[in-house]
Amino acid sequence: MTDKADYAVTKSEAEWRKELNPEQFRVLRQHGTERAGTSPLNAEKREGVFVCAGCGKPLFDSQTKYESGSGWPSFYQPREGAVGTSTDNSLFMTRTEVHCAECGGHLGHVFPDGPQPTGERYCMNGAALKFEKAK
Ligand SMILES: [Zn+2]
Repeated sequence: MTDKADYAVTKSEAEWRKELNPEQFRVLRQHGTERAGTSPLNAEKREGVFVCAGCGKPLFDSQTKYESGSGWPSFYQPREGAVGTSTDNSLFMTRTEVHCAECGGHLGHVFPDGPQPTGERYCMNGAALKFEKAK
């Protein structure tokens, strides 16, 4: 486990609750998962960047987004140094959990069944992201 103090952005639970809406808080701070197909970001195809809903760090470029059919926004590559991973043994499976490198907020999981060039599928909760359209 990574200690909370390792992150550049650290806030108390009360502070996060104030800044985030309930769904964002549940996903980012409590490792929740949004219901598949519910995020408006699934259909976001404009050019821009997806940033962390918790701290605003740019995480994924729109060029790396693709349609995985999973019902969650999917990317084949994060921006360099933008995310960290840890092993998640919940739900009786071993998965690789993905979090924001800046605030530690939970984003989703990464699976080895994505498209080239990386072969990775970053399966993200739309609630953990915000889209900023390119100007
Ligand atoms: Zn963050």
